[in-house]
Formats: sequence, C-alpha cells, structure tokens
Amino acid sequence: SDHTLAYPKSPVDMNWATHYPAYSVAQEKEAENAADDESHDQDQTSIKAITKNVEIADIGCGFGGLLFALAPKLPDTLILGMEIRTSVTEYVQEKIRAMRAQNSSSAYSYQNVACLRANTMKFLPNFFSKAQLSKIFLCFPDPHFKQRKHKARIVSYTLNSEYAYVMRPGGIVYTITDVEDLHKWMVDHFEKHPSFERVGEEEQEADECVKVMRTETEEGKKVERNKGLKFVACFRRCENPPWR
Ligand code: SAM
Repeated sequence: SDHTLAYPKSPVDMNWATHYPAYSVAQEKEAENAADDESHDQDQTSIKAITKNVEIADIGCGFGGLLFALAPKLPDTLILGMEIRTSVTEYVQEKIRAMRAQNSSSAYSYQNVACLRANTMKFLPNFFSKAQLSKIFLCFPDPHFKQRKHKARIVSYTLNSEYAYVMRPGGIVYTITDVEDLHKWMVDHFEKHPSFERVGEEEQEADECVKVMRTETEEGKKVERNKGLKFVACFRRCENPPWR
C-alpha cells in the first residue's frame, strides 16, 4: 500500500543522484576538487543533486520498453519511469544497472534513464517542480472498465491539472491505448482542460516519440501480436493565459 511508499517532501528533497549517478553534482565537484588538490566539505543538498533536471516521465512504465527505446534517442535528456508495482520497478532498476554495466565503455551507457516506485496519482508534484517536464507518457494505462472504477483512471480533470502544473508550456502529453472507450475518455478530459490542446494528426504522426510509443512498449507489442487497434492522442501544454 501507499504507506510503504517513500516520497520526497518536495522535488529538492529527492535524492536524484542515486538514480542518475553520472549526473551527480557531488561527483562533479569531487572531480574538480581532486583537480585543484583541496578538500571541500559537501553539503547535504549537493550530495543529492544532479547537474540537470528530469525532463521526461513515463507514468506507469511497466517493464520499461519505452524507457530503453527512448533513452538512446535522447541521450542528453533525463528520463524517469514511474511504476507502482514493487517487483516491476525492481526489474526495471536491475535492467538499468545491467545496461549501464554492459555499455560502460561505450559512448552511450543508459545513464540518462532511471525508474522509481511511486503512485503517480497521489504525489506527482512532490517529484517535479512547476514547468519542469517537457514530455509525459501515458502508455496503455489500466482501463478500469466499470463506471464505478473510472475514478481510478490516471486521466481525470484533477490529475490533468497536476500534469499541467509539472509541464512546461509547449510540452507534450502522449497517450496510447487499445481500449477505444478509454481513448475517448482521455481525449475528452484533455480537450476540456484549459491548459491543453490536442496536437494535430500530421504533427503527431511526424513525431519520433509516437513511433517509439506504438512499437516499443510491452503492451504495444502485445496488441501488435494480437492484431489489435492502437489509439493515439497527444496534447500540448498551452501557454498560461495572462490572468493566471
Ligand atoms: N506503460 C507500459 C506499457 O505500455 O507496456 C505498462 C502498461 S500497464 C497496462 C499499466 C501500468 O501502470 C502497470 O505496470 C501498473 O502497475 C502501472 N500503474 C497503475 N497505476 C499506477 C499509479 N497510480 N502509479 C504508477 N503506476 C501505476
């Protein structure tokens, strides 16, 4: 249950350096200090901090297919998978460690991707500050078919306001599902939210991330094998209106 989930009080309290060690501020300072041959004490904040912020979140990342496909395509952007199931999160974390080790002498070594356990329906603004993210992926979210279960869906008017808060204007929310009813629900809820506008078909189909989302997620592959349909919709975070 959520009682066992650990949340930072705010984004600055989060120990990002354990997830992205190659981007650790402390490590960078240590290297500088070694170079100037003096010892400096490191404060607690810099031990936890990283040199750039996470920019992309894959919400309900499952086994991480999207993360591993996207990360090498955006090697300078920090990508975070968020997953509620403990064993699944651990599997992805283990795979990240293995990919980093296997590629440690390569030009690219998966340092820009991480995964943590979280219930994103509850504490998203604890992890990300206002306007931090440029992309959010909602790939094959659990459909929660029954009417009385709709409140468990990860798209709702309230949750869309949280996505709007953590996203920068111009940023994109990517959605994909094989459940047409859920697709309509997501389109409806984002379109009626004042902070989002739907991305046009042409722009959507030209976006490399849409291709990755269709083909590289575990669920996307499953739907492919079963020759099912995939419904895609993307939404742009609008500029804030002047009165806000
Ligand atoms: N995105 C992956 C894909 O496309 O292959 C996995 C899709 S799977 C159907 C939905 C995932 O969302 C599951 O792994 C589930 O544990 C996770 N999930 C559901 N509710 C969540 C929540 N509130 N916070 C984080 N993850 C959640």
